[in-house]
Amino acid sequence: MSDLEGSESIESALVDGDLLRWFEQQHLLRTLVIAEDEEHITEVVRAPMLLLSAREDDVRAAPNPDALGYPEKRLGEMTLNDFHVFLLRWATRAVDAGLVRCFVCNEVLRNNDLDVPWDGIFVSEDLVAWLFIHFDCKRGLSRELKGRSPFELHPRPPEVFDVSHD
Ligand SMILES: [Zn+2]
Repeated sequence: MSDLEGSESIESALVDGDLLRWFEQQHLLRTLVIAEDEEHITEVVRAPMLLLSAREDDVRAAPNPDALGYPEKRLGEMTLNDFHVFLLRWATRAVDAGLVRCFVCNEVLRNNDLDVPWDGIFVSEDLVAWLFIHFDCKRGLSRELKGRSPFELHPRPPEVFDVSHD
């Protein structure tokens, strides 16, 4: 197990220790080791992110359900699937707030538009992230994701939403 406390990471300022450890248990952290010279090695850790659109400005760190008072389950008891359910609730609030665009076509997503429903997608390759997309735009997703590296993204803190109910 790597020593997360000692590693240099922008993430550690955005993702609290409990959430970082939980992501590590789920094997969802990505690490980049940079050897600046023979004596100095920097380890950059990236936790899973939220992509509220394909733009760099719309990258968010993942929220901690405990910090938001999520009532269904505590983080420590969650499976990854439980976390998906929590995040979908957070994302529904973000869509209500008009903050989320389809990752492929860039249209603003809407919750009550039954003609163009959206879905949350979790990708866990080099880049580990949740993103949001129209059902009909899913075919274009792999093209949009190609070549994206988590280490080129700099998440902002997630918005605080009321996740106490559906
Ligand atoms: Zn779309």
